[in-house]
Amino acid sequence: MKYSEKISEIKPSATLGITSKAKALKASGEDVVILAAGEPDFDTPQIIKNAAIEAINQGKTKYTPSSGTKSLKEAICSKFKTDNNLDYELSEIVVSNGAKHSIYNALQVLCNPGDEVLIPSPYWLSYPEMVKLAGGVPKLIKLSQDKGFKVTSEEIRSNITPKTKALILNSPSNPAGVIYSKEELTGIAEVCLSANIMIISDEIYEKIIYDGNEHYSIASLSDEVKASTIVVNGVSKSFSMTGWRIGYMAANKKIIDMVSTLQSHATSNPCSISQDAAECALVSDLRDVLIKNSQEFSSRRDALVKKILQETSLVPFIPGGAFYLFCNIASSGLNSVDFAQRLLDAKKVAVIPGGPFGHDDYIRISFATDLKTLNEGVDRMSDWLKNL
Ligand code: PMP
Ligand code: GLU
Repeated sequence: MKYSEKISEIKPSATLGITSKAKALKASGEDVVILAAGEPDFDTPQIIKNAAIEAINQGKTKYTPSSGTKSLKEAICSKFKTDNNLDYELSEIVVSNGAKHSIYNALQVLCNPGDEVLIPSPYWLSYPEMVKLAGGVPKLIKLSQDKGFKVTSEEIRSNITPKTKALILNSPSNPAGVIYSKEELTGIAEVCLSANIMIISDEIYEKIIYDGNEHYSIASLSDEVKASTIVVNGVSKSFSMTGWRIGYMAANKKIIDMVSTLQSHATSNPCSISQDAAECALVSDLRDVLIKNSQEFSSRRDALVKKILQETSLVPFIPGGAFYLFCNIASSGLNSVDFAQRLLDAKKVAVIPGGPFGHDDYIRISFATDLKTLNEGVDRMSDWLKNL
Protein backbone atom coordinates (compact mmCIF):
# COMPACT_ATOMS: atom_id res chain seq x y z
CA MET A 1 0.00 0.00 0.00
CA LYS A 2 1.34 3.44 -0.90
CA TYR A 3 0.29 5.90 1.76
CA SER A 4 0.19 9.70 1.47
CA GLU A 5 3.56 11.11 0.33
CA LYS A 6 2.65 14.48 1.83
CA ILE A 7 2.24 13.07 5.34
CA SER A 8 5.34 10.86 5.02
CA GLU A 9 7.42 14.02 4.61
CA ILE A 10 6.14 15.62 7.82
CA LYS A 11 8.19 15.27 11.00
CA PRO A 12 6.35 14.56 14.26
CA SER A 13 6.26 17.45 16.76
CA ALA A 14 9.44 17.24 18.87
CA THR A 15 7.97 19.48 21.58
CA LEU A 16 4.97 17.22 22.11
CA GLY A 17 6.98 14.02 21.50
CA ILE A 18 9.78 14.73 23.99
CA THR A 19 7.37 16.11 26.58
CA SER A 20 5.16 13.04 26.50
CA LYS A 21 8.17 10.68 26.56
CA ALA A 22 9.56 12.51 29.61
CA LYS A 23 6.15 12.45 31.32
CA ALA A 24 5.88 8.70 30.65
CA LEU A 25 9.36 8.11 32.13
CA LYS A 26 8.35 10.09 35.21
CA ALA A 27 5.10 8.15 35.52
CA SER A 28 7.09 4.91 35.45
CA GLY A 29 8.98 6.05 38.55
CA GLU A 30 12.09 7.65 36.98
CA ASP A 31 13.42 10.81 38.60
CA VAL A 32 13.04 13.02 35.50
CA VAL A 33 13.39 16.80 35.46
CA ILE A 34 11.14 18.09 32.69
CA LEU A 35 12.21 21.42 31.19
CA ALA A 36 10.55 20.68 27.88
CA ALA A 37 6.88 21.46 28.08
CA GLY A 38 5.53 24.61 26.50
CA GLU A 39 2.71 24.91 28.96
CA PRO A 40 2.30 26.92 32.15
CA ASP A 41 2.56 24.82 35.30
CA PHE A 42 -0.19 26.94 36.93
CA ASP A 43 -3.66 25.49 37.24
CA THR A 44 -6.55 26.91 35.20
CA PRO A 45 -8.21 29.61 37.40
CA GLN A 46 -11.15 28.22 39.40
CA ILE A 47 -13.67 30.70 37.93
CA ILE A 48 -12.95 29.25 34.47
CA LYS A 49 -13.33 25.68 35.70
CA ASN A 50 -16.64 26.65 37.30
CA ALA A 51 -17.87 28.06 33.98
CA ALA A 52 -17.16 24.70 32.35
CA ILE A 53 -18.96 22.78 35.10
CA GLU A 54 -21.89 25.16 34.74
CA ALA A 55 -21.93 24.60 30.97
CA ILE A 56 -22.15 20.85 31.51
CA ASN A 57 -24.90 21.22 34.12
CA GLN A 58 -26.88 23.48 31.78
CA GLY A 59 -26.72 20.83 29.08
CA LYS A 60 -24.46 22.81 26.78
CA THR A 61 -23.16 19.53 25.47
CA LYS A 62 -24.41 19.71 21.89
CA TYR A 63 -22.95 20.95 18.61
CA THR A 64 -22.46 24.69 18.39
CA PRO A 65 -22.05 26.63 15.12
CA SER A 66 -18.88 25.14 13.67
CA SER A 67 -17.00 28.47 13.73
CA GLY A 68 -17.82 29.00 17.43
CA THR A 69 -20.65 30.33 19.60
CA LYS A 70 -21.94 33.87 19.17
CA SER A 71 -21.21 34.76 22.79
CA LEU A 72 -17.60 33.57 22.61
CA LYS A 73 -17.10 35.53 19.38
CA GLU A 74 -18.51 38.61 21.14
CA ALA A 75 -16.03 38.10 23.99
CA ILE A 76 -13.20 37.74 21.44
CA CYS A 77 -14.26 40.95 19.66
CA SER A 78 -14.22 42.90 22.92
CA LYS A 79 -10.84 41.39 23.82
CA PHE A 80 -9.45 42.66 20.50
CA LYS A 81 -10.95 46.10 21.13
CA THR A 82 -9.72 46.39 24.73
CA ASP A 83 -6.29 44.81 24.38
CA ASN A 84 -5.31 45.62 20.81
CA ASN A 85 -7.54 48.53 19.75
CA LEU A 86 -8.83 46.37 16.90
CA ASP A 87 -12.44 46.47 15.68
CA TYR A 88 -13.69 43.17 14.34
CA GLU A 89 -17.22 42.01 13.61
CA LEU A 90 -18.50 38.59 14.63
CA SER A 91 -18.30 37.55 10.98
CA GLU A 92 -14.53 38.15 11.07
CA ILE A 93 -13.82 35.57 13.80
CA VAL A 94 -13.41 31.78 13.78
CA VAL A 95 -12.85 29.77 16.96
CA SER A 96 -10.78 26.60 16.52
CA ASN A 97 -9.22 23.74 18.47
CA GLY A 98 -6.24 25.74 19.71
CA ALA A 99 -4.14 28.43 18.02
CA LYS A 100 -2.26 25.59 16.33
CA HIS A 101 -5.46 24.67 14.50
CA SER A 102 -6.12 28.33 13.62
CA ILE A 103 -2.67 28.62 11.99
CA TYR A 104 -3.18 25.32 10.19
CA ASN A 105 -6.54 26.56 8.85
CA ALA A 106 -5.04 29.90 7.80
CA LEU A 107 -2.33 28.17 5.77
CA GLN A 108 -4.82 25.75 4.21
CA VAL A 109 -6.92 28.61 2.82
CA LEU A 110 -3.97 30.78 1.74
CA CYS A 111 -1.68 28.33 -0.06
CA ASN A 112 -1.76 26.90 -3.53
CA PRO A 113 0.85 24.29 -4.53
CA GLY A 114 4.32 25.85 -4.62
CA ASP A 115 3.38 29.08 -2.82
CA GLU A 116 6.16 30.27 -0.54
CA VAL A 117 5.67 31.25 3.09
CA LEU A 118 8.37 33.28 4.82
CA ILE A 119 9.32 32.07 8.30
CA PRO A 120 11.93 33.89 10.41
CA SER A 121 14.22 31.30 12.04
CA PRO A 122 14.34 30.24 14.88
CA TYR A 123 10.65 29.45 14.52
CA TRP A 124 8.02 27.45 16.34
CA LEU A 125 8.60 24.03 14.88
CA SER A 126 5.06 23.44 13.63
CA TYR A 127 5.11 26.33 11.14
CA PRO A 128 7.17 24.72 8.34
CA GLU A 129 5.34 21.41 8.69
CA MET A 130 1.96 23.16 8.49
CA VAL A 131 3.08 25.07 5.39
CA LYS A 132 4.07 21.76 3.74
CA LEU A 133 0.74 20.20 4.74
CA ALA A 134 -0.95 23.07 2.89
CA GLY A 135 1.10 22.31 -0.26
CA GLY A 136 3.27 25.39 0.25
CA VAL A 137 7.03 25.79 0.55
CA PRO A 138 8.50 27.13 3.80
CA LYS A 139 11.16 29.75 3.12
CA LEU A 140 13.28 30.15 6.21
CA ILE A 141 15.07 33.40 7.00
CA LYS A 142 17.92 32.45 9.33
CA LEU A 143 18.59 34.97 12.10
CA SER A 144 21.43 35.23 14.58
CA GLN A 145 21.64 35.75 18.32
CA ASP A 146 23.95 38.76 18.00
CA LYS A 147 21.28 40.54 15.96
CA GLY A 148 18.64 39.69 18.58
CA PHE A 149 16.98 36.95 16.47
CA LYS A 150 14.87 39.68 14.85
CA VAL A 151 13.93 39.75 11.20
CA THR A 152 14.25 43.14 9.53
CA SER A 153 12.03 44.56 6.81
CA GLU A 154 15.07 44.44 4.48
CA GLU A 155 15.56 40.71 5.09
CA ILE A 156 11.90 40.15 4.33
CA ARG A 157 12.09 42.23 1.16
CA SER A 158 15.11 40.33 -0.13
CA ASN A 159 13.40 36.96 0.40
CA ILE A 160 10.20 37.84 -1.45
CA THR A 161 9.72 36.18 -4.85
CA PRO A 162 6.71 36.15 -7.19
CA LYS A 163 5.62 32.99 -5.36
CA THR A 164 5.60 34.50 -1.86
CA LYS A 165 2.13 34.28 -0.32
CA ALA A 166 2.59 35.06 3.33
CA LEU A 167 4.86 35.83 6.26
CA ILE A 168 4.45 34.15 9.65
CA LEU A 169 5.28 36.58 12.41
CA ASN A 170 5.38 35.51 16.05
CA SER A 171 5.71 38.13 18.78
CA PRO A 172 6.49 37.36 21.58
CA SER A 173 8.16 34.41 19.91
CA ASN A 174 8.74 30.77 20.64
CA PRO A 175 11.57 29.72 21.14
CA ALA A 176 13.57 32.97 21.56
CA GLY A 177 11.04 35.26 23.31
CA VAL A 178 11.61 38.06 20.78
CA ILE A 179 9.26 41.06 20.90
CA TYR A 180 8.86 43.40 17.94
CA SER A 181 8.32 47.10 18.58
CA LYS A 182 5.69 49.20 16.82
CA GLU A 183 8.41 50.79 14.66
CA GLU A 184 9.81 47.41 13.59
CA LEU A 185 6.31 46.14 12.81
CA THR A 186 5.61 49.27 10.74
CA GLY A 187 8.62 48.54 8.52
CA ILE A 188 7.64 44.88 8.14
CA ALA A 189 4.02 45.77 7.33
CA GLU A 190 5.09 48.26 4.65
CA VAL A 191 7.13 45.61 2.84
CA CYS A 192 4.32 43.05 3.06
CA LEU A 193 1.70 45.52 1.82
CA SER A 194 3.80 46.66 -1.12
CA ALA A 195 4.48 43.03 -2.14
CA ASN A 196 0.84 42.07 -1.55
CA ILE A 197 1.62 39.26 0.86
CA MET A 198 -0.48 38.23 3.83
CA ILE A 199 0.78 38.35 7.41
CA ILE A 200 -0.13 35.58 9.82
CA SER A 201 0.47 37.17 13.21
CA ASP A 202 0.73 34.57 15.97
CA GLU A 203 0.16 36.46 19.23
CA ILE A 204 -0.39 33.50 21.56
CA TYR A 205 2.26 34.76 24.07
CA GLU A 206 0.79 38.28 24.17
CA LYS A 207 0.22 38.24 27.94
CA ILE A 208 3.56 36.71 28.92
CA ILE A 209 5.85 39.64 28.65
CA TYR A 210 8.67 41.10 30.79
CA ASP A 211 10.66 44.21 31.66
CA GLY A 212 7.78 46.61 30.98
CA ASN A 213 7.73 45.57 27.31
CA GLU A 214 4.43 46.03 25.50
CA HIS A 215 2.77 43.78 23.01
CA TYR A 216 1.68 45.50 19.82
CA SER A 217 -0.55 43.78 17.26
CA ILE A 218 0.66 44.45 13.72
CA ALA A 219 -2.97 44.47 12.50
CA SER A 220 -3.68 47.60 14.53
CA LEU A 221 -1.23 49.71 12.48
CA SER A 222 -3.87 50.67 9.89
CA ASP A 223 -7.02 49.40 8.16
CA GLU A 224 -4.90 48.37 5.18
CA VAL A 225 -2.56 46.26 7.34
CA LYS A 226 -5.54 44.81 9.19
CA ALA A 227 -7.09 43.68 5.89
CA SER A 228 -3.87 41.83 5.00
CA THR A 229 -3.36 40.22 8.39
CA ILE A 230 -4.69 37.08 10.04
CA VAL A 231 -4.36 37.56 13.79
CA VAL A 232 -4.11 34.31 15.76
CA ASN A 233 -4.47 34.09 19.51
CA GLY A 234 -5.88 31.73 22.12
CA VAL A 235 -6.37 30.97 25.78
CA SER A 236 -3.78 28.17 26.21
CA LYS A 237 -0.83 30.18 27.48
CA SER A 238 -2.45 33.27 29.06
CA PHE A 239 -4.99 31.38 31.14
CA SER A 240 -3.14 28.07 31.65
CA MET A 241 -5.67 26.29 29.45
CA THR A 242 -3.45 24.20 27.14
CA GLY A 243 -5.63 21.11 27.43
CA TRP A 244 -8.92 22.88 26.74
CA ARG A 245 -7.98 23.48 23.09
CA ILE A 246 -9.42 26.86 22.26
CA GLY A 247 -7.72 29.27 19.84
CA TYR A 248 -9.13 31.81 17.45
CA MET A 249 -8.37 33.92 14.42
CA ALA A 250 -9.54 37.29 13.17
CA ALA A 251 -9.28 38.17 9.51
CA ASN A 252 -11.17 39.63 6.56
CA LYS A 253 -14.56 38.07 5.77
CA LYS A 254 -13.40 36.20 2.68
CA ILE A 255 -10.74 34.32 4.64
CA ILE A 256 -13.10 33.72 7.57
CA ASP A 257 -15.75 32.27 5.23
CA MET A 258 -13.19 29.90 3.72
CA VAL A 259 -11.87 28.82 7.12
CA SER A 260 -15.44 28.28 8.38
CA THR A 261 -16.20 26.08 5.38
CA LEU A 262 -13.00 24.09 5.89
CA GLN A 263 -13.67 23.67 9.59
CA SER A 264 -17.31 22.67 9.01
CA HIS A 265 -16.07 19.58 7.17
CA ALA A 266 -12.86 18.88 9.06
CA THR A 267 -13.69 19.19 12.75
CA SER A 268 -17.08 20.90 13.29
CA ASN A 269 -17.11 23.12 16.36
CA PRO A 270 -14.41 23.13 19.04
CA CYS A 271 -15.61 21.55 22.32
CA SER A 272 -18.79 23.35 23.48
CA ILE A 273 -17.76 23.20 27.15
CA SER A 274 -14.30 24.61 26.45
CA GLN A 275 -15.89 27.44 24.50
CA ASP A 276 -17.90 28.48 27.56
CA ALA A 277 -14.76 28.24 29.69
CA ALA A 278 -12.78 30.37 27.20
CA GLU A 279 -15.58 32.95 27.16
CA CYS A 280 -15.38 33.15 30.95
CA ALA A 281 -11.58 33.60 30.72
CA LEU A 282 -12.00 36.51 28.31
CA VAL A 283 -14.86 38.33 30.04
CA SER A 284 -13.74 37.93 33.67
CA ASP A 285 -11.39 40.37 35.29
CA LEU A 286 -8.35 38.12 35.61
CA ARG A 287 -5.78 40.91 35.36
CA ASP A 288 -4.34 40.06 38.79
CA VAL A 289 -3.77 36.45 37.78
CA LEU A 290 -2.11 37.46 34.51
CA ILE A 291 0.19 39.95 36.25
CA LYS A 292 1.07 37.46 39.00
CA ASN A 293 1.89 34.73 36.46
CA SER A 294 4.03 37.06 34.35
CA GLN A 295 5.94 38.21 37.46
CA GLU A 296 6.53 34.61 38.45
CA PHE A 297 7.83 33.73 34.96
CA SER A 298 9.99 36.83 34.99
CA SER A 299 11.71 35.95 38.28
CA ARG A 300 12.22 32.37 37.11
CA ARG A 301 13.78 33.69 33.92
CA ASP A 302 16.21 35.87 35.88
CA ALA A 303 17.17 33.05 38.24
CA LEU A 304 17.62 30.59 35.38
CA VAL A 305 19.76 32.94 33.27
CA LYS A 306 21.95 33.74 36.28
CA LYS A 307 22.49 30.08 37.13
CA ILE A 308 23.21 29.05 33.54
CA LEU A 309 25.79 31.82 33.18
CA GLN A 310 27.39 31.01 36.54
CA GLU A 311 27.48 27.26 36.25
CA THR A 312 27.76 26.41 32.55
CA SER A 313 29.48 27.64 29.40
CA LEU A 314 26.18 27.84 27.52
CA VAL A 315 25.15 31.22 26.11
CA PRO A 316 21.50 32.05 26.81
CA PHE A 317 19.51 34.56 24.78
CA ILE A 318 17.51 36.73 27.18
CA PRO A 319 13.82 36.47 26.23
CA GLY A 320 11.56 39.54 26.46
CA GLY A 321 8.44 37.36 26.57
CA ALA A 322 7.11 33.76 26.45
CA PHE A 323 8.64 31.20 28.83
CA TYR A 324 11.58 29.66 27.04
CA LEU A 325 15.33 30.11 27.25
CA PHE A 326 17.07 29.52 23.93
CA CYS A 327 20.67 28.64 24.74
CA ASN A 328 23.68 28.32 22.49
CA ILE A 329 25.40 24.98 23.15
CA ALA A 330 28.34 25.32 20.72
CA SER A 331 30.80 25.07 23.64
CA SER A 332 29.64 21.48 24.28
CA GLY A 333 30.78 20.35 20.82
CA LEU A 334 27.52 18.43 20.39
CA ASN A 335 24.65 18.95 18.00
CA SER A 336 21.31 19.71 19.62
CA VAL A 337 19.74 16.27 19.22
CA ASP A 338 22.79 14.49 20.69
CA PHE A 339 22.93 17.06 23.48
CA ALA A 340 19.28 16.57 24.44
CA GLN A 341 19.37 12.77 24.08
CA ARG A 342 22.60 12.33 26.06
CA LEU A 343 21.46 14.73 28.79
CA LEU A 344 18.22 12.79 29.13
CA ASP A 345 20.01 9.42 29.20
CA ALA A 346 22.76 10.48 31.59
CA LYS A 347 20.96 12.85 33.96
CA LYS A 348 17.25 12.46 33.26
CA VAL A 349 16.84 16.10 32.29
CA ALA A 350 14.48 16.74 29.36
CA VAL A 351 15.08 19.81 27.16
CA ILE A 352 14.11 20.35 23.51
CA PRO A 353 16.86 20.30 20.84
CA GLY A 354 17.13 23.52 18.80
CA GLY A 355 17.38 21.65 15.47
CA PRO A 356 13.61 21.39 14.97
CA PHE A 357 13.41 25.17 15.62
CA GLY A 358 15.95 25.76 12.83
CA HIS A 359 19.09 26.16 14.99
CA ASP A 360 21.04 22.99 15.67
CA ASP A 361 23.58 24.71 17.95
CA TYR A 362 20.87 25.60 20.48
CA ILE A 363 18.60 23.93 23.01
CA ARG A 364 15.32 25.26 24.39
CA ILE A 365 14.74 25.19 28.13
CA SER A 366 11.20 25.85 29.29
CA PHE A 367 10.88 27.79 32.54
CA ALA A 368 7.17 27.08 32.80
CA THR A 369 8.02 25.03 35.84
CA ASP A 370 8.84 25.79 39.48
CA LEU A 371 12.18 27.20 40.59
CA LYS A 372 13.18 24.09 42.54
CA THR A 373 12.81 21.93 39.42
CA LEU A 374 14.69 24.49 37.32
CA ASN A 375 17.59 24.60 39.80
CA GLU A 376 17.76 20.83 39.95
CA GLY A 377 17.77 20.65 36.13
CA VAL A 378 20.62 23.14 35.75
CA ASP A 379 22.62 21.46 38.55
CA ARG A 380 22.39 18.13 36.78
CA MET A 381 23.18 19.69 33.41
CA SER A 382 26.26 21.54 34.65
CA ASP A 383 27.50 18.38 36.35
CA TRP A 384 27.07 16.48 33.11
CA LEU A 385 28.75 19.18 31.01
CA LYS A 386 31.81 19.21 33.28
CA ASN A 387 32.35 15.50 32.66
CA LEU A 388 31.61 15.49 28.94
N1 PMP B 1 1.95 29.32 18.49
C1 PMP B 1 3.06 29.16 19.22
C2 PMP B 1 4.24 30.02 18.93
C3 PMP B 1 3.12 28.17 20.22
O1 PMP B 1 4.24 28.01 20.92
C4 PMP B 1 2.00 27.38 20.45
C5 PMP B 1 2.12 26.33 21.53
N2 PMP B 1 1.40 25.25 21.49
C6 PMP B 1 0.85 27.60 19.67
C7 PMP B 1 0.86 28.58 18.69
C8 PMP B 1 -0.41 26.80 19.78
O2 PMP B 1 -1.03 26.84 20.99
P1 PMP B 1 -2.44 26.17 21.23
O3 PMP B 1 -2.72 25.29 20.05
O4 PMP B 1 -2.32 25.41 22.49
O5 PMP B 1 -3.43 27.29 21.31
N1 GLU C 1 3.89 25.27 21.82
C1 GLU C 1 4.35 24.51 22.92
C2 GLU C 1 5.81 24.20 22.76
O1 GLU C 1 6.44 24.71 21.88
C3 GLU C 1 3.49 23.28 23.18
C4 GLU C 1 3.75 22.08 22.33
C5 GLU C 1 3.40 22.31 20.89
O2 GLU C 1 2.21 22.43 20.60
O3 GLU C 1 4.34 22.42 20.11
O4 GLU C 1 6.36 23.47 23.52
